[in-house]
Amino acid sequence: MSSLSLEVILQREMQGASPIIVTSEGNKAGQEVEERSQRIIKGLERLPECNFSTADVSDRSVDSVLQQIHHQEYLEFLAHWNRTLVGEALLLDYPYLDEGIKADTPLFEGVYDLSREGIRTAIAAAQQVAHGASFSYALCRPPGHHAGPAWLGGYCFLNNAVASVVTLLNSGIGPIGLIDIDFHFGNGSAALLAERPDVWFGSIHNSTILSYPYKDVQPASDRQTFVSFSHPPSSEEFLTQVDQLIQKSLDFGCAALVVSVGYDIIINDPHGGWDLPPSIFEEIGQILAQASIPLCFVQEGGYLLDSLEECAYKFGFGLLQSGQQSIGD
Ligand SMILES: [Zn+2]
Repeated sequence: MSSLSLEVILQREMQGASPIIVTSEGNKAGQEVEERSQRIIKGLERLPECNFSTADVSDRSVDSVLQQIHHQEYLEFLAHWNRTLVGEALLLDYPYLDEGIKADTPLFEGVYDLSREGIRTAIAAAQQVAHGASFSYALCRPPGHHAGPAWLGGYCFLNNAVASVVTLLNSGIGPIGLIDIDFHFGNGSAALLAERPDVWFGSIHNSTILSYPYKDVQPASDRQTFVSFSHPPSSEEFLTQVDQLIQKSLDFGCAALVVSVGYDIIINDPHGGWDLPPSIFEEIGQILAQASIPLCFVQEGGYLLDSLEECAYKFGFGLLQSGQQSIGD
């Protein structure tokens, strides 16, 4: 009997308020709220192969990984506003922005504490893979893939997916691939990984002119592949691209993959624009499992609350079903 499972890492609860982060447009439907995680958990709880545990990583390890990702001055900026704002969110004219990007993400009380819990969760998920798990899933919030070396944006402050990558590399596993399938381009992840010779990065996203970060982007090297859609892709088109990115990462020699998972690719997501059905995640899970290397999933976007349970369930179902078949072969 196979023991294939999905190790789901829950984010540690924060003392005090769990803030709602508003968008610059005041788009209530698109808010980044804790309920997102709760809905995803409900979907994964329907799968008996999911094991749930809460992120258990020391503050020292969190700080050590953060210092390998973000500039000290930027971390101090977040730490400063963490307790300076009491019960309010504030869109400051801060300088910590990607080139050509306007401030869109407010700071709020506990911003650094909450973002650090996301990093702790991402590290814990990567450690599961480092210790031999086939699949792990970090239920981080807020998301992280728009956070760069010294900048925030698009709800992101600290880069969770890159924390998973760094943790795997620190464990002696490499090279590592990061595949980002969120609707939006992970400008932070791309920038952070540009200089790392042992990391391959691939992203499928909507046009970066039409969507965040609203500018042209180019790969930094042949270790990066960007797939941009200027029209809503069909399921077949999207899945073909996922398959191709996996193949490229395997050609690079990746020993494990971190996958930035965004559920904002589906129809009616308030921050999306495509019309893919939630059921596409079953096929995405299947294709990823067929890579037959360890996979560490990190939660990015996905804001249509009523779809999140279904997306997560389908994803886990496809992954575990296909993974079982691979092991049984
Ligand atoms: Zn997104």
